[in-house]
Amino acid sequence: MTRRSSVRSTSVAAAFAALAMLVLMVGRAQPLDAQAPGPADGFNDSHFHLTNYVQQGIDVRQFLAIMGTRVGRSTLFGIPLQQQWSYGNSGDFAPTYYLQTDAPLYYYSFTDAYIAMAYRALTPAEQARFDPMITGFNPADMYGVDHIRRVLTTFPGVFSGIGEFSIHKEFVSSKVAGETASLTNPALDRILDFAAEAGLVVILHSDIDMPFAKTDAEPAYLAQMKSLLKRHPKTTIIWAHVGLGRIVHPVKASAEAAERSDTQLEIVETMLKDPALAHVSFDISWDEVAKYAVASPESIARVVRILNQYPDRFLFGTDTVAPASPAAYYAVFDMWAPVWSRLTPEASRKVRTGNYERLFDEGRRRVRAWEQAHAR
Ligand SMILES: [Zn+2]
Repeated sequence: MTRRSSVRSTSVAAAFAALAMLVLMVGRAQPLDAQAPGPADGFNDSHFHLTNYVQQGIDVRQFLAIMGTRVGRSTLFGIPLQQQWSYGNSGDFAPTYYLQTDAPLYYYSFTDAYIAMAYRALTPAEQARFDPMITGFNPADMYGVDHIRRVLTTFPGVFSGIGEFSIHKEFVSSKVAGETASLTNPALDRILDFAAEAGLVVILHSDIDMPFAKTDAEPAYLAQMKSLLKRHPKTTIIWAHVGLGRIVHPVKASAEAAERSDTQLEIVETMLKDPALAHVSFDISWDEVAKYAVASPESIARVVRILNQYPDRFLFGTDTVAPASPAAYYAVFDMWAPVWSRLTPEASRKVRTGNYERLFDEGRRRVRAWEQAHAR
């Protein structure tokens, strides 16, 4: 190809790209929400990890290809913790997950710069589909909040919120180097206060209970969690996975487990009815949570009832970590099929797309305003 024809084909390609962008932008001028009820298998992803516990993952453009036209928007975050490869512990075996070694995890603040740079490399139309989140702070450090503020002033125009970050997380909390995080630590209050001031949406992971808890006992961390949430009524908080984990409230085929799961939904419903917790939403992300929801006809009926009754308070998310393929990514949404098919059109739309847009649009707007007011 001659230099000239390559220049011409480049400019033709550029013209097509501009046209495509225009079509995309005109198409997007209407929020997804306006196209109610929308395709029943489309969604926004309120919980997505681009990278894993050793800070490796997929490229944001690979993720865009996976999103295609089925996913409108997505949160974008890494994982704040890095799994150390301790030669003394696992030798030549390089762990990529926290269950694969006894070595500690430590806070890896560079994740925020990595996510910001990935976002900034995108076109404005592509950027509009993402809500990047700050995660690389230590919630047990009174200085943690300063990191968040510093990230906003270093990368203005990028972030919509903070999280997913964890306080109590089975297998993980006890492995984190340094002081163990706690729901009663004032360092966390400082972070949530600042989130209210700047308008940052918060995605907080904190298990409601200890692993393998007794079925009839009050969940270990429930009271602390509620009082934390009530101390921060002006902060928009999404409680990740409805407080569940892999072995926190496992649903088994036993009657005992079924009863347990009933209690879980009662707890959530009590919170949904509490006006002092109106600022709290719940994400139904993670395939481990989906397993509980669709475990039996009874569990499906319970989940359907609560989503239909409180459709404004739940957000779908995949909680996938650097998915290798569309199949791996969409599997989580599809696990919920027995629930989706039983929701009212309104509840389905809100949980899949509407609540995301309401919370994150507001987050974006408020954080941009805070950044303007505090520009250096
Ligand atoms: Zn997650």
